[in-house]
Amino acid sequence: MRYISTRGEAPALGFEDVLLAGLASDGGLYVPESLPHFSVEEIRSWRGLSYSELAFNVMHPFVDDAIPADDFREMLNETYKGFSHDAVAPLVQLDSNEWVMELFRGPTLAFKDFALQLLGRLLDYVLEKRKQHVVIMGATSGDTGSAAIEGCRHCEHVDIFILHPHERVSEVQRRQMTTVLGDNIHNIAVRGNFDDCQRMVKESFGDQSFLGGKTQLAAVNSINWARIMAQIVYYFQASLALGGPDRSLAFSVPTGNFGDIFAGYLAKKMGLPISQLVIATNRNDILHRFMSGNRYEQHQLEHTLSPSMDIMVSSNFERLLFDLHGRDGGLVKDLLERAQKGPVSIEDYRWRHARKLFDSDAVDDKGTCETIREIFERNEYLLDPHTAIGVRAARNCRRDASVPMVTLGTAHPAKFPDAIAEAGLSVKPQLPPHMADLFEREERCTVLDNDLSSVQSFIASHWKLA
Ligand SMILES: *Cc1c(COP(=O)(O)O)cnc(C)c1O
Repeated sequence: MRYISTRGEAPALGFEDVLLAGLASDGGLYVPESLPHFSVEEIRSWRGLSYSELAFNVMHPFVDDAIPADDFREMLNETYKGFSHDAVAPLVQLDSNEWVMELFRGPTLAFKDFALQLLGRLLDYVLEKRKQHVVIMGATSGDTGSAAIEGCRHCEHVDIFILHPHERVSEVQRRQMTTVLGDNIHNIAVRGNFDDCQRMVKESFGDQSFLGGKTQLAAVNSINWARIMAQIVYYFQASLALGGPDRSLAFSVPTGNFGDIFAGYLAKKMGLPISQLVIATNRNDILHRFMSGNRYEQHQLEHTLSPSMDIMVSSNFERLLFDLHGRDGGLVKDLLERAQKGPVSIEDYRWRHARKLFDSDAVDDKGTCETIREIFERNEYLLDPHTAIGVRAARNCRRDASVPMVTLGTAHPAKFPDAIAEAGLSVKPQLPPHMADLFEREERCTVLDNDLSSVQSFIASHWKLA
């Protein structure tokens, strides 16, 4: 399998190189040159498989001969064994034909574990083979940091440095990062805000000379292709559990960066019968505004009760734009360069095509709270604020009540107790048993000034072989 850039200029790469690359050298994102396609008979034959066996069937064509089949199988077993439910992604029924797929049974209680638990293992495997080492550097305002740290804690060839804004992440989120103790894990609390952290990461990627040429930086944010790949699997799992592929399904996906929903779009292109894909956003609704009015335009960032979807630009959307433009990288490059300067639109027939593929909705904090309250009162089931947005959008956009509607449950409610309180519920969401002692665990974290050279010299002197 070869991977090409959405901006058409960077060289095509194989799976291993794409794993380590992050952004393509022309500023684009990598996508597979062609997608595997599965017949209905083949998908039907996967009924009853375990999650990791299914994951192997769906992902193997993307990995191809980069990893021998037996090694890849074992890696997937290890990855999904660490989840706290045997079904890995269990379905919970909300109404007669409506479901939530719980994607928060991994170690950090958000769906990002599906990809990052695998990514850490993939990286270590490839680096071992190449006798290479990388430093992962990332900025986080919440879920990504802890999932990345958990994913890399056992990696021998990876040191990870995660920057978070000092005293500006929730206590659960901070502890999920700082209580993972390991020689290769470094939490840096920066005396600044999230944007300061992100800027330092960006500048460090641009000029890596502070590492002295002895190692290189790698990225684990959602532009990494392997993350998308791992997220395709659970769409197949939901379908097979609910009568697919002999019946089609609808999905509602809480999204900001267009990562999770793009995986659903790929599942459909790979042959899975999906009749509706709903893009569910919060007030940071650039995707919804594009889908409803063909205008792609950055607005001010709003802080909402669903912080993991608080974004201004939606980076993975570029991958869809590439398809909408007949996979012409030159057109995408031109469009996104114009989008840096102001609002852009695409040709009407291309936009109409996008509208056929997706429905969309934007849900504000009030709607989020109402949905949390309503589902709790009806079902005694607690939704986290992101999942609540998905459920609300599913109900607003549903086209056919005879088609099962599945909302992706992206986080455990105990990660976001403030939203539950804001919804006026007096119940306190409990951390699951494997995390019940989170508040007693030892923390390790270094507080640094909001200053690039202090952060860089900390990294240069703390990675393993430094
Ligand atoms: C990251 C995240 C999202 C959004 O994911 P996308 O990659 O933008 O699709 C939604 N919910 C939660 C809980 C998250 O952590």
